[in-house]
Amino acid sequence: MLAVQKGKRGWDHVIIVAGHIDSRVTDPMNFTDDAPGANDDGSGTALVIEAARVLAGEEMEATIVYALLSGEEQGLWGGTLLAETAKERGWKVSAMLNNDIVGNSTGTDGRVVNDRVRVFSEGIRASEDIEAMMTRRGSGGEDDGPSRALMRAAARVAEKEETTGLQVFGVRRPDRFRRGGDHLPALELGYPAVRFTVGVENYVGQHQDLRSADGLEYGDTVDKMDFDYLTRVTALNIATIRELGTAPPAPETASLGGAVSSDTIVSWQSVEGAAWGIKSIGGAATAATGKKAGWSPPIRIVPLWKA
Ligand SMILES: [Zn+2]
Repeated sequence: MLAVQKGKRGWDHVIIVAGHIDSRVTDPMNFTDDAPGANDDGSGTALVIEAARVLAGEEMEATIVYALLSGEEQGLWGGTLLAETAKERGWKVSAMLNNDIVGNSTGTDGRVVNDRVRVFSEGIRASEDIEAMMTRRGSGGEDDGPSRALMRAAARVAEKEETTGLQVFGVRRPDRFRRGGDHLPALELGYPAVRFTVGVENYVGQHQDLRSADGLEYGDTVDKMDFDYLTRVTALNIATIRELGTAPPAPETASLGGAVSSDTIVSWQSVEGAAWGIKSIGGAATAATGKKAGWSPPIRIVPLWKA
């Protein structure tokens, strides 16, 4: 199920915010037992609907697609259909924020983590061909892909929006070990996509038949939710959509050069309506290393259309 908020740039700048409406018990093919799915993924579903409610009526450069996807648990069917539809229709997807399990703050072992949200992003792109792979390998670009940049954008917004009380804990992987979500089909087709998920997992509440055993109440039930936490993750998503959606899209291509030169040369294609420049060289170093840099390499910024 999709809701579309048309922005000024139409389908040339699309931001997708997604959750999935299906839920499951222990056996993903069991369609008769009660599978409440409060957290997985009622939480993401509520987030998407609330984002639509808050952002509806706001002027955006980007077109926002609010997506409630189905069949995630059986094989990412909704995410696959959405990504393929975007490709077929020629949408230029600037970002996909997939929210899957974003509503608990107490972990399996009782630990409480309510001040951070994990954002997963791929390093090596699922979509890259051999030529792109060789270029990336040659320039050490494993940390520079568009999904990684999207993760950093969310982290930057979280720093700015202190009222959410959340830090982004950026995880440099497409998803948790041997697990996945509806952002993966988007990555395979080359779209920048990240997964938001809780800071600590509660496996008593995930993918479980409803039952009492070992003194525990198994099942994805509403009593395991932390609605204050979910509210804040929602606010962070909304702020991220607002920041990205009111700006022009990123350049379609960018490159690094500087062989036998004192400078590193960053060049990129112009984007209509975009101001150009990088705020500080230190910022560029931060982007490159993911850490605060005390030392800045010399960088010369050369937009292609001004060179
Ligand atoms: Zn899920």
